[in-house]
Amino acid sequence: MLIVMKKAATPAEIDNVCKVVQSLNLESHPMPGAQRTAICITGNKGSVTKDNFSNLPGVKDVIRVSKPYKLVSRETKIEDTTFKVGDVTIGKDFAVIAGPCSVEEESITLRIAEKLKAHGINLFRAGAFKPRTGPYSFQGLGEQGLEILAKVKQQLGLSIVTEVIDIEKIEMVAEVADVLQVGTRNMANTSLLKKLSKINKPVLLKRGMSATLDEYLQAAEYIMLGGNYQVILCERGIRTFNDHCRNTLDIAAIPTLQERTHLPIFADPSHAAGRTDLVAPLSLACVAAGAQGLLLEAHDDAANAYSDGQQAFHPDNLYNLQQKIINVREGLCLTT
Ligand code: PEP
Ligand code: MN
Repeated sequence: MLIVMKKAATPAEIDNVCKVVQSLNLESHPMPGAQRTAICITGNKGSVTKDNFSNLPGVKDVIRVSKPYKLVSRETKIEDTTFKVGDVTIGKDFAVIAGPCSVEEESITLRIAEKLKAHGINLFRAGAFKPRTGPYSFQGLGEQGLEILAKVKQQLGLSIVTEVIDIEKIEMVAEVADVLQVGTRNMANTSLLKKLSKINKPVLLKRGMSATLDEYLQAAEYIMLGGNYQVILCERGIRTFNDHCRNTLDIAAIPTLQERTHLPIFADPSHAAGRTDLVAPLSLACVAAGAQGLLLEAHDDAANAYSDGQQAFHPDNLYNLQQKIINVREGLCLTT
């Protein structure tokens, strides 16, 4: 249920509604917006009705939220969610997060990061912990990888996006990461999501490779429900019968998600394509569909990359791609 407060509702009135909600053994989640505050109620098993709130001072409307997700829903918050990561305002500035699939040896990682920085990249991605399909594949440098990422941050001033795969490692990863990534294989790991709901760092949640949008948004709801409202969604391709690329980029998911949620929607053309030659065209397709950012795998020596070299985008080609992104956004009047 959603309680929509009047534009002129006072903080005391909002507070009072929250207290009434709590007195009914339910949870209240005030969501301030540019126009008005909405208070989302969770935990209602049906016993509480509109009448409990309709006549409280400052209340404009009480709406039933039929969807299985509430806090992430556009119904709850009309305006796009924005938050800062370094100097970038996620959800407002178009953001490109780029870097190798895995953190590699220090000199290689720093070299790639420098090249990316020279192309205006502020957000550096690389996995220290890698959730690989097979146990014989490179599993990441682990803690040592985090130390290397800390150097990238310290020496180049880049913000760090890196994956967390275990609950026990959240604190360790959060010490270095500016954004914690949850990979496709962990989208439905609810214990991990619940723990991430308690940290004060943004989470980039990738779509599960066979997840419907309702399932995906409910995964994001786990993170918001615990109090972490800084969530980025990322479409990274889903499993289909196609055998011409690694996954099928679900372009339609981008505008559909934007309709259903206020959270920022990113796209990862690299894992969708699985092939370097498709990364640029898919990036542009995502931009045209309204993605608010991209997660790109980039490497300057793809043949020797520790993982996913077959889809690595060369930093030297970034300038060209960025120009095309600007053209697409300007052509579609997407620039802010
Ligand atoms: C990654 O970003 O390196 C990754 C493992 O992606 P995904 O979880 O989408 O497969
Ligand atoms: Mn990868």
